[in-house]
Amino acid sequence: MARIVKKFGGTSVGDVDRIQNVARVIKSEYDQGNEVLVVVSARSGVTNELISRAKAINPNPADREMDMLLVAGEQETIALTAMALHAIGVDAVSMTGAMAGIRTDPFHTRARIVSMDCKKIIGHLEKKRVVIVAGFQGADTDGQITTLGRGGSDLSAIALAKGVDADLCQIYTDVDGVYTADPRIVPKARKLSEISYEEMLELASLGTKVMQARSVEFSNKYNVPFEVRSSFNNNPGTIVKEEVSSMEDVVVRGVALDRNQAKVLITNIPDKPGSAARVFEGLSEANVVVDMIVQNIGRNGVANLTFTVPRDDTQRAETAVNQILSELGGGEVTLVNDIAKLSVVGVGMRSHSGVAGQLFAALGEAKANIQLISTSEIKISVVIDESEAEHATRVVHTAFGLDVEE
Ligand code: ADP
Ligand code: ASP
Ligand code: MG
Repeated sequence: MARIVKKFGGTSVGDVDRIQNVARVIKSEYDQGNEVLVVVSARSGVTNELISRAKAINPNPADREMDMLLVAGEQETIALTAMALHAIGVDAVSMTGAMAGIRTDPFHTRARIVSMDCKKIIGHLEKKRVVIVAGFQGADTDGQITTLGRGGSDLSAIALAKGVDADLCQIYTDVDGVYTADPRIVPKARKLSEISYEEMLELASLGTKVMQARSVEFSNKYNVPFEVRSSFNNNPGTIVKEEVSSMEDVVVRGVALDRNQAKVLITNIPDKPGSAARVFEGLSEANVVVDMIVQNIGRNGVANLTFTVPRDDTQRAETAVNQILSELGGGEVTLVNDIAKLSVVGVGMRSHSGVAGQLFAALGEAKANIQLISTSEIKISVVIDESEAEHATRVVHTAFGLDVEE
């Protein structure tokens, strides 16, 4: 007997037929005598719909009320999944995140898990009951409902796998696994049979949507290996696990594209010690996460500063920067939305040289002009024009030998 966690994403529970399909997948595991703990997302599109409804009523809704609203999406699917299991003769019980013992900090819309109390879940599992937990949600110590950031059902699943000491954690989605690039953009992308936590974390942080970055961070921290696979077929998926030495043989494991970034240009900022510090302190106080930063050499007492921020945060960034600039006594802000960040990732970069040259040559061939560059031990990222991004991703994918063999 094994204890298995299965998480089904939004598309997998998108309508009645799909929920019935999920129930069959669960039943076939359960019928083999295994304990099954299920995590489900909201139906695809529901969370976005709820967000737009909230914004139509109040453009600046309170975070607490946002959480109260958004958990409704998952609350629908846990109940429907339990009903679908009952209909095929499987004993099952649904639970909200709070009932399942997921305790978080009090930071609404982006709460972090602080502890897990899985006694109730384990009690049900031991009675041979399938447990279905609402993904993406928890409650703080005061009982206030919180959510774990977009895509947070992945985190619920991995944290619960750790909490119940599961033998296996499977993330079911609408693709067969993790590919060398988004298969919707790169038709020649290849499915990976395995990938290290670190590479998966970089890819996820750099815009690869298949896993939520924070969930991969958690799996790395607590060593919870997991499999990403399709809920629509039985093909073997991708195993995400600790790095093994053979992984370094591959220089570039995958290509990520993030179209959710914007560029902020500050021109003519007073070129004196502390100016940059004030700008970034102001951004941090406004809760804006800044990524790539470039400052050019000052001339005539002024300098230019460029950085990227998540596109949703551009307004907040602009307001914060304008306030600092008025304190500093100069400088103008320009926002550029139509950019994209393209990145290549691989643990093999630690031991191989020449990756940057190869990347820049491929971008040249794709006629994509590089606006910003940043590197770390296992990745290189560039900012390019959004209109060139998809084509450039395909050219870079081919240049690093990642295309599927015909
Ligand atoms: P779910 O609703 O199951 O959580 P998501 O929509 O969050 O699913 O993630 C699955 C999607 O991630 C796929 O449909 C695919 O287009 C996208 N994706 C982006 N990059 C990759 C990649 N490298 N490998 C696999 N899927 C990717
Ligand atoms: N429903 C939430 C979202 O759309 C959480 C998830 O699907 O993982 O972000
Ligand atoms: Mg997802």
